[in-house]
Amino acid sequence: MIPISRRELLKLAGVTAVGAALGSDKNAEAAETPKPQNFSFNGAQIPTLFRADVCVVGGGPAGTAAAVTAARNGARVVLIEQGTVLGGLQTQGLVYPAMPTRVLNTDTPYITDLNRRFAMHGIYVDFVDDEKYKNGGDARQYTPELLAFIYDELCADYKVEVLYNATLIGTNTAGGKISAAIIHTVEGLRKIEANIFIDGTGDATLSRFSGVKFAHGNEHTGRNQKMSLRFEMGGVEEMKVYKFFVKKLKDGWCESKPPEFEFAKTTHTEKFYFEGIQRGEVTKDDVAYIQAFTILGKPGTMSMNCPEVSPYLYSSTSALDRSKAIQQCRIMIRRLAHFFRKNIPGFKNAYISREASMLGVRESWRIHGKYYMTKDDYFNAQKFPDAVCRSAYPIDIHDEVLDVHRTLAKGEFYEIPYRALVTNEISNLIVVGRCISTDFPAQAAVRIQPTCMSMGEAAGIAAAYGLKNGIAVNAIDWTSIQNRSYVSAG
Ligand SMILES: Cc1cc2nc3c(=O)[nH]c(=O)nc-3n(C[C@H](O)[C@H](O)[C@H](O)COP(=O)(O)OP(=O)(O)OC[C@H]3O[C@@H](n4cnc5c(N)ncnc54)[C@H](O)[C@@H]3O)c2cc1C
Repeated sequence: MIPISRRELLKLAGVTAVGAALGSDKNAEAAETPKPQNFSFNGAQIPTLFRADVCVVGGGPAGTAAAVTAARNGARVVLIEQGTVLGGLQTQGLVYPAMPTRVLNTDTPYITDLNRRFAMHGIYVDFVDDEKYKNGGDARQYTPELLAFIYDELCADYKVEVLYNATLIGTNTAGGKISAAIIHTVEGLRKIEANIFIDGTGDATLSRFSGVKFAHGNEHTGRNQKMSLRFEMGGVEEMKVYKFFVKKLKDGWCESKPPEFEFAKTTHTEKFYFEGIQRGEVTKDDVAYIQAFTILGKPGTMSMNCPEVSPYLYSSTSALDRSKAIQQCRIMIRRLAHFFRKNIPGFKNAYISREASMLGVRESWRIHGKYYMTKDDYFNAQKFPDAVCRSAYPIDIHDEVLDVHRTLAKGEFYEIPYRALVTNEISNLIVVGRCISTDFPAQAAVRIQPTCMSMGEAAGIAAAYGLKNGIAVNAIDWTSIQNRSYVSAG
């Protein structure tokens, strides 16, 4: 079980400047409307590689759920992924574990299927016996390697055509419709033609290339959330680590117990990290945010939710900054690994076993869709007739000086409307995952993996429904779809 109070604690230190961090009054001014990027390449014909009913770009948790669900509902689907694995930040980014929605019964049919498949491999992701956390309320722990395998299995089962090592570089867009995605492949530039397109890139790349209005960063400060490059350490003796933090450092906030537990930098353990800075073993930036989890199904390995880089120095919407951030994080990872080995019993023989192959971008660009969700929707626990999923996960903003962690009252939850997934500009586009139509603070709540997966699932159903009924996806009345089972799976 993920100790919720601990995660909350991690952010409490920064709540003083909450107002500025949460402000989003300047939304309208901050938005930009790009021109569609139609590629002519001096009139050269780009060959068509594939024709599909639905083309999903980006195989993260949201895009994969969309592709699998559309295919499951009868559509011919192609899924474009620039990496060599599905799962996005879950697998390439080593982001573990999936955080809880904190709402009972939010496990949608797709998530239930995923959990069932994990159980077949001996990993029980819904292992919490506490009723209040059942079926979506608590964290799902998806081991990156097994998840990658299961995503391939799901795509094979439902006949999703997956195109790995294929990067979207533009679109053919005219008359408010995308007709083709232009991708870079090993064969050269190729076209993917489809009736419906789903943007699961996390960065709203397909939407931006198609002329959809977007915004990025905090509306007041302009800063994006902090980025991280995650890593894993093997050779860890977990019980020794646990004893050190709980018994020696008296880290009373560590509610979790082996084999599933975490340690983190909190007010209780701050001194431990501060002394490392004084000895010159780590820098202040290296230990600005520290969190480590044991991994279900990978004994002796811990997943590190660090290091983070300053959003003053590195913006997630700058290509150069992203590259520099990766280089900087690699240096920090080595210092942290050394510090852990030297100072944490149980890490003596530990080594860096994996480094993420994808930078941990929490937030970059967000679209302005038919409905623009704001922090007020979050705090009002807003419900919508066209809700596609619900959550009570906190607004969780990682920032240099404005860290914010704001929760709803116990028992409250908010919903995400289908209209936040579709746009005014493009009739055959659905957007899913962390780049849907929200302001900066609301994005910091909707971005967790289960919510991204549920949005993807909804998009897959809507795409298949639109196809069958000849309705443009941005004109679908979500309430008229019969099998929209996700909001209340139980
Ligand atoms: C450091 C960090 C820690 C986090 N911690 C947690 C946590 O503990 N629990 C939790 O639930 N959530 C956590 N999150 C949030 C969560 O992991 C993400 O918000 C979520 O993965 C977003 O899903 P997505 O599908 O929208 O995008 P992503 O996971 O970003 O996936 C996007 C996919 O699109 C592909 N893509 C992008 N551009 C292109 C292109 N041009 N062509 C082809 N493919 C492309 C990418 O390769 C990737 O596979 C964390 C995020 C970060 C960064």
